[in-house]
Amino acid sequence: MTAYDPNNIFAKILRGEIPCFKVFEDDRTFAFLDIMPRAPGHTLVIPKAAARNILDIDPDDLAAVMRTAQKIAHAGKAAFAADGITLMQFSEAAGGQEVFHLHVHVIPRHAGVALKP
Ligand code: 5GP
Repeated sequence: MTAYDPNNIFAKILRGEIPCFKVFEDDRTFAFLDIMPRAPGHTLVIPKAAARNILDIDPDDLAAVMRTAQKIAHAGKAAFAADGITLMQFSEAAGGQEVFHLHVHVIPRHAGVALKP
């Protein structure tokens, strides 16, 4: 496992060094809009703890991330009148990960509407 890099983009967002559109925050997690949304309301949920991905994160932090993801799912369904929700999580480059601070994508979905590429 490659070591956690504290200079990744999401660590900078957590430290307030890069702006974001914050959606939610609690003691263990932070949620903000994806800069290239694949559907309206596309939100990223991250732990405040340093964790590279699913292979690295403390289980209690992962549980906190998933609790927040559920909150965001409910809020996204209501705010966007969504028919469903897609969660995605990519770990390591081979798994499709591009930013190496764990994040869960929460994406409101509408019937018959494909995700943007
Ligand atoms: P993944 O690592 O899950 O493959 O993709 C990283 C996600 O982070 C992408 O959906 C991308 O649009 C998003 N992203 C990358 N850089 C930034 C940024 O600076 N701000 C925000 N809000 N999202 C970002």
